[in-house]
Amino acid sequence: MKVSIDGSLLDGSQARIPVVDHGLLYGDGVFEGIRIYGGAVFKLDAHLRRLSVSASVLGLELPGGLAALRATLLATARAFGEAEAYARLVVTRGDGPLGVDPTSCPRPRTICIVDRIGLFPPEKVERGLELVTSSVRRPTPDALEPRVKSLNYLGSVLAKQEARRQGADDAVLLNTAGAVAEASVANVFVVRDGRLATPPASDGALEGITRESVLAIAARLGIAAAERTLGRIDLLGADEVFLTGTGARIVPVRSLDGRPIGAGGAGPVTARLQAAFAGYVKEFATPWA
Ligand code: PMP
Repeated sequence: MKVSIDGSLLDGSQARIPVVDHGLLYGDGVFEGIRIYGGAVFKLDAHLRRLSVSASVLGLELPGGLAALRATLLATARAFGEAEAYARLVVTRGDGPLGVDPTSCPRPRTICIVDRIGLFPPEKVERGLELVTSSVRRPTPDALEPRVKSLNYLGSVLAKQEARRQGADDAVLLNTAGAVAEASVANVFVVRDGRLATPPASDGALEGITRESVLAIAARLGIAAAERTLGRIDLLGADEVFLTGTGARIVPVRSLDGRPIGAGGAGPVTARLQAAFAGYVKEFATPWA
């Protein structure tokens, strides 16, 4: 693992930050999870744009602006030196006295971590994931805006914990109106009669970069796709369900709450999208070398 803290490159084991960083004390900060394929960063500009939107909602100034963050990410990836990797770019509020007031923190902190990617085991991806419906709801935007990728991930942590306790792989989170929002750290898609649907961001989904990529690939392949409100019933009645995320890419779902979905494994539409995604990532690649 290689880490950059405010521009200083370190081995993972040497990386330290003060305990008074408000990112730790209050979850006051933003982040991106970014994939490196074949020595190139996938959709770097889209990730930087999303980070900048998240930061502006928090009134958090990005140290050195997007150009500095981009340079930090590429330098950390280069120092790590492996062609396949995962990068975590984090901007915290920085150090300050105890107390939630962000105006007491004069300098935001930039952290970039690049490491090997931890994935679902290949047999899971092959067979499909077992999901449960979480008792944890995605909050309404006036409580905690789900479109902001902040360091507040307790909902996702609790939903994942609930799934693991039940022997499942991941959880579907509903919003407070009972509509499907997303999985713990991935977006949800359904396929019915050859057509794709995924919940709109306004239903509590993060505007995932992989989600956006799948919608673009579907358009190219002539697969009809819509962003629309989905209930649990739409998942249970789907021909295929899959999750999308930077880490997971496109992963089929085999069951929800113990009820099978489709025939298990990747259905025909999911398989087409998976195959096309492998080529698509090469089109949006920023080499770190
Ligand atoms: N939802 C949440 C809550 C996430 O944390 C992630 C992972 N960033 C996603 C969806 C998927 O987004 P992306 O495709 O950009 O990784």
